[in-house]
Amino acid sequence: MSIRPNSIEARDVARVLHPYTNAVAHEKVGPMMIERGDGIYVIDNEGNRYIEGLAGLFCASLGFSEQRLMDAAYRQMQKLPFYHSFGGKSHDTAVELAERLVDLSPVPMSKVFFVNSGSEANDTAIKLAWYYHNSIGRPAKKKIISRMRAYHGVTIASASLTGLVNNHRDFDLPIDRVLHTECPLHYRYANPGEDEETFATRCADALEQLIQREGPDTVAAFFAEPLMASGGCIVPPPTYYEKIQAILRKYEILLIADEVICGFGRTGNMFGCETFGLKPDVITMAKQLSAAYQPIAVVMINEKVYSAVRDASGRIGTLGHGFTYGGHPVATAVALETLKIYQERDIVNHVRSIMGEFQSGLKSFADHPLVGNARGVGLIGALELVSNKDSKEVFDPSWGVAAHVGERALKHGLITRALGDTINFCPPMIITKAEIGEMYARARRALDETYAWLQAGRPAAAA
Ligand code: PLP
Repeated sequence: MSIRPNSIEARDVARVLHPYTNAVAHEKVGPMMIERGDGIYVIDNEGNRYIEGLAGLFCASLGFSEQRLMDAAYRQMQKLPFYHSFGGKSHDTAVELAERLVDLSPVPMSKVFFVNSGSEANDTAIKLAWYYHNSIGRPAKKKIISRMRAYHGVTIASASLTGLVNNHRDFDLPIDRVLHTECPLHYRYANPGEDEETFATRCADALEQLIQREGPDTVAAFFAEPLMASGGCIVPPPTYYEKIQAILRKYEILLIADEVICGFGRTGNMFGCETFGLKPDVITMAKQLSAAYQPIAVVMINEKVYSAVRDASGRIGTLGHGFTYGGHPVATAVALETLKIYQERDIVNHVRSIMGEFQSGLKSFADHPLVGNARGVGLIGALELVSNKDSKEVFDPSWGVAAHVGERALKHGLITRALGDTINFCPPMIITKAEIGEMYARARRALDETYAWLQAGRPAAAA
C-alpha cells in the first residue's frame, strides 16, 4: 500500500518517531490512524472497526467510550487543572486516591508516591530501595534482581530490569547493579520430564545461588510482575512464589511487586499479588488504575520502608525525588472515578464471571497446528507459536510468523499483539462472553491463514 502524499499518514512518517516500531518498515507502510473508540472497539480513519484484543497496551480496562471518566476529567479541569505535590502541597483528589489505594492494597501499605508511568514507578521503587537500605545502615545493599523476560519499563533503570534483548541492545543496557535470574516459564524452560513444582524449586535454587555468588549483603531488592505479561504471558508454576519469598526473607531483600498490568482485576482478583500469593514491601501500579484515560502511576510502600525513607529525608532535609506532574489533579480525579466504577460494577466478580469463557476459548487453540502452548489467568492470555509441537522448536524470527498472525488478525478486525513468538490477548475487562467468542473467531481465521501461508512456502520465499 502506498502512502498518499500530504496525507495524515505521510505527515506521520515525516515527523513522528514511533516507539516499538521498525523505522525503516514504517517509512514504507506508514501508520495505522485510530480515530475513535466505542466500547471494546477502536475505529480507524477509513471507518474500519477493530476489537481491541489487547485493551490498547493492557490498559483500557473500561473500553474506549466511558463517559463518566470524560466527565470526571472535565470537572477537575474546571476546578483545578494543575497543581503539584512538591514542598508539602496537596489537593483533595490525590489524598482521596491515596486513601483508596491503601484500603484496596493486597497487603498493609503506608504511603503512596505519585508518578506518571509504570517506568517511572519502577525507577522510583529502585531509588527508594537504595534510599531505604542507606537509611537503615546497609549501604552495600544495592543490587537489584529481576528475571529474564520480565518487563518493567524503558527508562534507564527500568529497562535494565526488563529482561528482553531489544530493550538492551544498542542502548548499552542493562546498567550494572541489575541482575537477571531464571524465567519461571515451565513450558519453555523446564527440563524434560520435570514437573512444575520441581521446576519452581530449581528456579528458587538459582535465585539463591545468584544471591550467594553476589553476596547477600549486596542485594537490595527483587522485582516481580505477579504474572509476566509482556514477556509472553508467563504464569508462574505452583509453589514458585512461596519458595522465592522464603529466600528473600532469609537474605532481607525487599520484594517489589510490579502490578502495572495485573492490578485492578485483570487476573480475577483485585491484584496479581492475591492471585499468586505475593507479600511485597513495595507495589507499583499504573495502566488500569485510570483505565488508561489519564497517565498516572503510583509506588506504594509499607511502613517499614516508609519509616526509613522518612528518617533519611529528615536527616537530609528533603526527599530529593519527584516529577512535576506526579499526582496531577486531572489524573488523580480520573483514577478515583475509575476505582468508583470498578466498585459499583464489581469488576472483580465481572471478570470472574467471564474468565472461564476467556480461558477455555484460549485453551481451545491448543489443537491448532501452529500453537505449542496456550496459557493465561483471568482475562489475560497468550498463544505460543512453534514450528514443531513435539520438539517445541520456534520459527526462524526472520520469517515474522507471529507478526503475520497480527497482520491477518487486523484484516479480520482484531488488534492483538505479537510479543516474541506469542500472540497476546488482554481485552478491555468490559468485554462480554459473545465478544470473547467473536475475538477468538477472528484470531482463528488469522492463525489458519498464517498456517496456509506457511504451507504455501513462505519460509522458502523469506529465506
Ligand atoms: N511494568 C509492567 C509490568 C509493564 O507491563 C509496563 C508496560 O507495559 C511497565 C512496567 C512500564 O509502564 P509504562 O509503559 O507506563 O512506562
